[in-house]
Amino acid sequence: MSAGIMMPPGIKPPGDYIEEVLAKVKAKNPAEPEFHQAVQEVFESLRLVLQKHPEYRSSKILERIVEPERVIMFRVPWFDDQGNVQINRGFRIEMNSAIGPYKGGLRFHASVNLGILKFLAFEQVFKNSLTTLPMGGGKGGSDFDPKGKSDNEVMRFCQSFMTELWRHIGADTDVPAGDIGVGGREIGFLFGQYKRLANKFTGVLTGKGLNWGGSLIRPEATGYGCVYFADEMLKSRKDSLKGKLCLVSGSGNVSQYTVEKLLDFGAKPITWSDSDGVIFDPDGIDREKLGWVMELKNQRRGRIREYTDRYKKAVFMPTDIKLEHNPLWNIKADCAFPSATQNEINAKDATNMLKNGVKLVAEGANMPSTLEATKMFLEAGILYGPAKAANAGGVATSGLEMAQNSARLTWTREEVDDRLHKIMIAIHKSCYETADTYGTPGNLVNGANIAGFLKVANAMLDQGLV
Ligand code: NDP
Repeated sequence: MSAGIMMPPGIKPPGDYIEEVLAKVKAKNPAEPEFHQAVQEVFESLRLVLQKHPEYRSSKILERIVEPERVIMFRVPWFDDQGNVQINRGFRIEMNSAIGPYKGGLRFHASVNLGILKFLAFEQVFKNSLTTLPMGGGKGGSDFDPKGKSDNEVMRFCQSFMTELWRHIGADTDVPAGDIGVGGREIGFLFGQYKRLANKFTGVLTGKGLNWGGSLIRPEATGYGCVYFADEMLKSRKDSLKGKLCLVSGSGNVSQYTVEKLLDFGAKPITWSDSDGVIFDPDGIDREKLGWVMELKNQRRGRIREYTDRYKKAVFMPTDIKLEHNPLWNIKADCAFPSATQNEINAKDATNMLKNGVKLVAEGANMPSTLEATKMFLEAGILYGPAKAANAGGVATSGLEMAQNSARLTWTREEVDDRLHKIMIAIHKSCYETADTYGTPGNLVNGANIAGFLKVANAMLDQGLV
């Protein structure tokens, strides 16, 4: 029982109540550990809210918010280049539409399953709420692995995937975007098939090409936004990114534009990774090296280990599944920008980072830190920007793409970047102030979870039992 709280007779204290709801979530959604983890992290923060707002409990907002409004699962058959039949599984989780149409990316990766997409959709609800834009939360994807597939195979897969998905989505219903394995190429193929089936040219997807409804800065937005957020965190301690040594994981969309914006701020990024291993470049990554990686990853679709063929002083450390930690997080640095995937920082990694002097973690990837690692960062009192706040710039700019599509106009690069920057400043302010209001100053995990939750929960109360 939480100390010092007086509860009316017959009503259990928030602590016990939250544990009961969490236990039900685990029992009702077995074999979905990532979903359990995401719910647990949010619920821990909500203890503080339920003490002040018993109405959320009597309306069962927690029990309702963990239940997707709709889950769509479907077969995706396609022919590979050899004429063999291939079957994948497609998903769309329409999690919550209390504050706007469902919005969230599509992930194509061999590891995709229902639990991973439910964790991502759940996170998306709170993230989208933080952006200040009217977007509900959703997520989708497939266990299709684009690695090693030809452009024609990717196109046939995308067309088959959209042949089912198109009936469930729409510019005012559900607007998917990219995520791991879904970039400009895939969005193009998906949009083409949607348009053919629906006979409509609408803003049904974001991340579109510039000459067919896309927004400037959308590809850059998640990485740029994460660095803007890190800059705000450092400003709150009268510090800056200038001269800071930075660890960046991954080498995809988020990593590339994180590195670019770090260079703009005068920081020194020194690492990359992909699922095969880690690159450490002691000389630092400059714009020429970044351009080379963009060409390697976005055009040639090569592996990050090739970096050492070109830049001889860099070291490649292959992934070793027997190792209990990731060597990338054991390199001396000031700041860390995890930008690859979920749970890429465990307790051992967090120990290494703190020991090596990391003072800031800004999460570009979704839920990259385990619950133990998150707790360690908070207890150490370092600047810790959780994913749903720090990487919200991507979906925020998708929201700006939707606004431009609705108005049938396009904003300049400067205008979109300026709006993105202002949104990231506003998200930081809202998380920072909410953490303070709820008695945990500096704890941006509580700030993000509570600020994101309140807007959605109040909209759910207003709209009745739906
Ligand atoms: P990309 O597909 O462009 O890049 C992903 C990168 O992470 C690749 O380098 C990939 O390596 C690596 N990676 C992926 N899965 C694993 C894994 N299981 N183990 C090791 N490395 C892995 O994706 P994004 O850059 O778009 O996404 C990265 C993260 O950012 C994800 O968590 C995503 O959810 C999050 N995010 C993305 C947004 C966006 O706008 N794109 C918005 C908000 C969050 P490899 O090629 O070898 O698989």
